[in-house]
Amino acid sequence: MCTENNEVYVNIYDKKNDNIESKLLEEMVKELVACTMPLNFHIEALKCQSIIIRTRLVRQMKAYGGVGTEECKEADILKQDFEGLIPLIEYKNVWKNKYEEYKEKLEKAALETTGKILLFNNKPIDPRTHLVCGGSTENSENIEGNAVRYLRRVLCNYCEDSPYSLNYKDISIDELEKKLGLELTNDNFMKDITINKFIDNVVRDEQDRVTRIKIGNKEFSGKEIMEILDINSTRFSWRPQIIRFFTVGKGDGLGLCQYGANSMANNQTLAEEILKYYYTGVIIKKIQNPCINKPLEGKIIMIDPAHGGESSDDNVGNHGLREKDVNLSIALYLVKELESIGANVYLTRDKDEVIHLNDRAQMAKDIGPDFFISIHQNYFSHCSKSGTEIYYFRGDKMAKELAEEIMPVLTNEMNTLNKGIKSAEFFLLREIPVSSIHIEVAYISNFDEERILMSKDFRKKAAKAIAKGFINFYKYI
Ligand SMILES: [Zn+2]
Ligand SMILES: [Zn+2]
Repeated sequence: MCTENNEVYVNIYDKKNDNIESKLLEEMVKELVACTMPLNFHIEALKCQSIIIRTRLVRQMKAYGGVGTEECKEADILKQDFEGLIPLIEYKNVWKNKYEEYKEKLEKAALETTGKILLFNNKPIDPRTHLVCGGSTENSENIEGNAVRYLRRVLCNYCEDSPYSLNYKDISIDELEKKLGLELTNDNFMKDITINKFIDNVVRDEQDRVTRIKIGNKEFSGKEIMEILDINSTRFSWRPQIIRFFTVGKGDGLGLCQYGANSMANNQTLAEEILKYYYTGVIIKKIQNPCINKPLEGKIIMIDPAHGGESSDDNVGNHGLREKDVNLSIALYLVKELESIGANVYLTRDKDEVIHLNDRAQMAKDIGPDFFISIHQNYFSHCSKSGTEIYYFRGDKMAKELAEEIMPVLTNEMNTLNKGIKSAEFFLLREIPVSSIHIEVAYISNFDEERILMSKDFRKKAAKAIAKGFINFYKYI
């Protein structure tokens, strides 16, 4: 049985050779950490980078709802997008006598974070990094134009001592012209450029000879300059040839500052704390292995087909369709769906019989499932009302999250209106000590919805959609 997270595979499309290969996610994490962070960094910093790389890959993986690569439908990533995907053994000649040490460090960093990724709103984040921020990281909107909630500016004086914190680069005017697509040297404004506090107060005679000039805080005559600088004439002009650009930090400042992370690690901060510092509001969770196709393995779900029995107080449609029957039918399909993805499923009733609410609550108490799902069909005195509603008990965060996964799939599959996810104090929601939701699949009092509820296909669809919601919920455990 492959339930281990270290057996997750990624499909890689190699555009050059036009083929797809599968590689272990955890192997790729090591290889990509090796080429994206200095390996003399602290193990906790390398663990941060392992989680970051894993998040980047999982974010693209189709098995986790990722978009894959445009280049190839069947693949998760394009090899050419991830330079450095090479077996560690190939670093032997590069790392030389450090090879064993670095390899061990990479293995430890991957192993101790196995399967862990960064999530925001239950989705893998885009984990941006840079080498040195130089005092503070940056808000995403200042770099990329759009505000990303987990890419917020945070202060960072941890990278102060990095080799890149202060630096400069001399760039010649020629290079500047070439790279920026400018033509400065022919422009008159570049001639005799006066730079405040550097060269100004220039006085010339009618022959265009410099008579007075101020350089820095000193005044000179044109002749003095000619003699001191050993230039040919007092009829001179100037233009800058090289501009020195001073820099603080290295990189765009988005997300995690690598040198900062390393220095936090050296000060005994653990990887997950460091990540939460640089990525605002994220949580760190382990992914489920999708290869088993049983993402609900080990989970106990209790399904409650509401009402039941001939004397039931259930809702009845205009054409006589009874809610109790629809509920049971959807529930029975749902049992099959959930069992096929590994769940252990219990029903409060499996036939048309009367079961009191107290007894249903007691069953849930006895079994203690991970989730209790009540299935209903709605009713309103006017037939125009339609749509899907889901209720949870106030404060039950897990139930609300599950409802948020089920609602979009269910309304999309059934083509019903999303009437909202609401908190309620219904007897079962209140009495049952485990996370519970109450689904009103559709309005039996609405002609169109009564018609679809009559159809076996639609009941099956509803069950499939609820199961899909569960899969999405349990994608990251
Ligand atoms: Zn920093
Ligand atoms: Zn009902």
